[in-house]
Amino acid sequence: MFDSFWTTYLLLVAIIIARYFAIAGFFHYFLWMRPEEKVQASRLTRHEPTKETIRHEIVMSCISSFIYAAPAAAVMFMWEQGGTALYSDLSLLDLAYIPASIVIFLLANDAFFYWTHRAMHHPKLYPIMHRTHHKSLQPTPWAAFSFHPTEALLESWLLPAMAIFIPIHVGAALFVLMAMTVTSVTNHAGWEILPRSWLKGWVGENIISATHHNMHHTKFKGNYGLHFRLWDKLMGTDIMEPVE
Ligand SMILES: [Zn+2]
Ligand SMILES: [Zn+2]
Repeated sequence: MFDSFWTTYLLLVAIIIARYFAIAGFFHYFLWMRPEEKVQASRLTRHEPTKETIRHEIVMSCISSFIYAAPAAAVMFMWEQGGTALYSDLSLLDLAYIPASIVIFLLANDAFFYWTHRAMHHPKLYPIMHRTHHKSLQPTPWAAFSFHPTEALLESWLLPAMAIFIPIHVGAALFVLMAMTVTSVTNHAGWEILPRSWLKGWVGENIISATHHNMHHTKFKGNYGLHFRLWDKLMGTDIMEPVE
């Protein structure tokens, strides 16, 4: 039984690290390694990513991957035993339930992240848990999982725990994890990849973009959310300069 857990765990570590290198590597190449005039995005900083920043972000992201994989492997292991709300069969109802479950998981994760992130900016918790992430004054695509192990541990268990109780199709769960990796990479990339018209419209008003999260890194306060601007707006912590 433990053989199967460790096999699942190590396989998940490998998948999470491979996915991180593929997505962060793609955006690093696409945004930072080509001539600026060819890049279809708006640059948010005049600073070039330094080797030290990237090295720090990669090391911490790899360590975090070992942490994220543990609760995920536990849930995969429980799934094999039939003890979770994960499912793989499809019915007609799934046409409506799959999008709804994706929204439920993202909203719950966003609320949890907002409050834990805000708490980690408290002077007592900041030096222990969150300084590692803010070591990147200007983050790069490699900062996607660049967290202190205590922060990674805190943020790693919610989604797997929800999958024990709230039904979610395995494909929807994979979609949520994939979307979170892509947005974490792009929101730290130092470039805004969303078109200006989107940024000015509904998407920019409600969804967290690189422009929004970059302000969290440069100003050190405000913009604590993960996916949506909802909690920041509700709690008066939203800062966003008007989009030209
Ligand atoms: Zn922060
Ligand atoms: Zn960040």
